[in-house]
Amino acid sequence: MDIVSHIIIGKIISFFDKKNKRAGLWAMFFSFLPDSFQVFAYIYLGYINNRAFFIPKNIDWNHTRSTYPVLHAFTWEIPHSIFFLSLIILPIIIFFKLPKIAFFAYLLHIIIDIPTHAGEWAIKPFYPINYAINGTTNAWAWPIPMFFYSWVILLFISTLLSFISRKNHADA
Ligand SMILES: [Zn+2]
Repeated sequence: MDIVSHIIIGKIISFFDKKNKRAGLWAMFFSFLPDSFQVFAYIYLGYINNRAFFIPKNIDWNHTRSTYPVLHAFTWEIPHSIFFLSLIILPIIIFFKLPKIAFFAYLLHIIIDIPTHAGEWAIKPFYPINYAINGTTNAWAWPIPMFFYSWVILLFISTLLSFISRKNHADA
């Protein structure tokens, strides 16, 4: 899934945490967090492929997971592992007393990435165990209009939930 869709999904699930006013911000942040480490791989691939402003093209990602295993371990496999979530992210959330929705936002990111990453980019949710689940599509490589459909649908759901929760507040 693309980063914008992940962030909107974080906003959507935050409506289920009615108690916490900051739930929305934390849910959006933790929805985006698993992909944030990839910025290093992104810039590096743009650099070695001589792309303008170090922005790699979709084609530049082909076979890079096997060509640069260490780079992808740190920027991709580890942040998308249930073990990283349980052993690093969860203790941080508990220690800083962040809203619980932050944990679910991160978990949901991994779950959503499973069907939306296929072939070479299949998710290994139990990394360092090498078991990969092959999804049905590579959503990050969708053409731009598909991103827009995804954003519009998700924004619609988010706006709808926002109205419902405001109405509930008003009625209460
Ligand atoms: Zn991801």
